[in-house]
Amino acid sequence: MGIASINPATGEVIKIFTHLTNREVEHKLALAQKAFEQYKNIPISQRAEWMNEAAQILESNSRQFGKLITLEMGKTFVSAAGEVEKCALNCRFYAERAAEFLGDVPVATDAGRSFIRFQPLGAVLAVMPWNFPFWQVFRFAAPALMAGNVILLKHASNVPQCALAIEEIFLQAGFPVGVFQTLLIGAEKVSAVIEDERVRAAALTGSEPAGASLASIAGKNIKKTVLELGGSDPFIVFETADLDEAVSTAVTARIMNNGQSCIAAKRLIAVGAIGEKFEQRLVEKFKTLKIGNPMEADTDLGPLATPDILKTLDLQVQACVKKGAKVLTGGQSMSDCPGNFYLPTILTDIPPGTPADHEEFFGPVALLYRAKDIDEAISLANRTPFGLAASAWTKDAVEIERLVQELEAGAVFINGMVRSDPRLPFGGIKHSGYGRELGIQGIHEFVNIKTVWVK
Ligand code: NAP
Repeated sequence: MGIASINPATGEVIKIFTHLTNREVEHKLALAQKAFEQYKNIPISQRAEWMNEAAQILESNSRQFGKLITLEMGKTFVSAAGEVEKCALNCRFYAERAAEFLGDVPVATDAGRSFIRFQPLGAVLAVMPWNFPFWQVFRFAAPALMAGNVILLKHASNVPQCALAIEEIFLQAGFPVGVFQTLLIGAEKVSAVIEDERVRAAALTGSEPAGASLASIAGKNIKKTVLELGGSDPFIVFETADLDEAVSTAVTARIMNNGQSCIAAKRLIAVGAIGEKFEQRLVEKFKTLKIGNPMEADTDLGPLATPDILKTLDLQVQACVKKGAKVLTGGQSMSDCPGNFYLPTILTDIPPGTPADHEEFFGPVALLYRAKDIDEAISLANRTPFGLAASAWTKDAVEIERLVQELEAGAVFINGMVRSDPRLPFGGIKHSGYGRELGIQGIHEFVNIKTVWVK
């Protein structure tokens, strides 16, 4: 279908967009370079003013943008409006803290004066996914713009209206023309953009194949990349956990964003004697989830974003079942209605050799495991190519320390759901990618960390 808005709840084609021509892309690249020459010298206080204005626009229009998100990718309207508000928070965070994060850092050496200075790189290409169509972009863009870079956004092809709305927000906020531009292009055009000498670096949030492809082309051209890729996060529940809280958080953490979040709790691991009760309560909760129109306030679960995602998820589930996995609830799509709906599903007794070992399940499917003790739980948690984040539930101090130390992940949350927070760095290890967004680390990814030595 190319670049198009299609309502995932109904299948209705809302709007089709034409791809930019090569000439139009060339025009935007030239504009980005021209804009950078001026923007890099704009005082940080002015950039902060514009960033605060962007936050204001987001907050004042969170319902309108929320509707757009729901319409294009199907998440519940309540969560979509929340996503927009979180973007505002991130803009304010960097507006307030960027001057401090980017200030010269003196370092005592044998020089008369030596210090580190942070300078922008230039035009950065941002290749972004549809699952948090505002948050992923703002998470990257707020620090990159505060640092003085300019941005070319290639958003996912199913959220073009979100992509255009974001460009408009930055323009309305006062950022000069050319500082933030949306490129309506397909994935096949990305390599030519990275190869262009006016583009100095790239960030990609998305799947492993997309990340590997972008990074290899960037690598050949000696350009910095940050990759935020998939995950298969463990959610480990020990006997000392508060069971009610652990169960309700496990449900939220698995079905948030209709099950399509990189940091969703995809593999639930119950340790020791708590296993039976945890399973029973989890199944009860899954059975009460309300599936349906994502615009309605009491809907828990909306549709998957595209028919392809639904198909892939169902194939993964069926492959597990064929090898002997047991379906505790769900296990199929809702074929009696239009839209890409999949029943909230729990699989257990999953034998080795299924897609659950090494693939990401991007939808409302919980993979439930039992472990006899902490050693088995940690080993199971780490037995995946991914290493994005992990959540574990225990009151035992020794267990907490072992989990913090031994879980192979970019983040470990104890007695809480994994979530991103502008104040804390976010990113993965292993096949979940490299580099960090958010925090002070996020703003230092796309800068020249210049060493200055003066005798
Ligand atoms: P995707 O298919 O990889 O697409 C992501 C973006 O990459 C889209 O803009 C897509 O463009 C583009 N793309 C696809 N193939 C490409 C290629 N070969 N070269 C260059 N660009 C390419 O991923 P998705 O389905 O949109 O997003 C879901 C994935 O993102 C999941 O794996 C999820 O876990 C991950 N994710 C990770 C994080 C994190 O922070 N770690 C956050 C959110 C999502 P088109 O749409 O035009 O194909």
